[in-house]
Amino acid sequence: MALCANKNCNSKVPDNGDCMTCQGCGGKLCFENKCGKYTKSSWASISGAKKSKWRCPECKEKNESESNQSKRQEERRSRRSIENKQITNKEVMPEILELKAIITYVTTKQTDLQYSVDMVSDQYDKILEKQKELQDKIQGLEEQVIFLVASK
Ligand SMILES: [Zn+2]
Ligand SMILES: [Zn+2]
Repeated sequence: MALCANKNCNSKVPDNGDCMTCQGCGGKLCFENKCGKYTKSSWASISGAKKSKWRCPECKEKNESESNQSKRQEERRSRRSIENKQITNKEVMPEILELKAIITYVTTKQTDLQYSVDMVSDQYDKILEKQKELQDKIQGLEEQVIFLVASK
């Protein structure tokens, strides 16, 4: 005969397996004081699968505090992943700066292009001026020719 795993219970559990066995600590709990919260008949009515996962109240409590701990770890992990995202932003920064440099380059090129368009249009104006000058000259020559012909 072994003692019930409940420290506050002084009952003995029979060796013939007529008790509840915790799958966590292997402790045996008696039915007579409902140390595992079950009576002999209610224990008999639950499935073998449930029995094979059953844990004593002490182990359950321990398990819950462990799962709380793992929840806290999960929180810590997700917080860390947010921090990682901030690091990713830092990694993206050089690319943004590169892009900025490209934009500056394109803007400069555009200014250059505008400058050469202005130059061409300047030259065009000069050509127009020159053409007008030539036209004036031709007109002057024509007048002289007409004068010469008339004076003959
Ligand atoms: Zn246990
Ligand atoms: Zn007991």
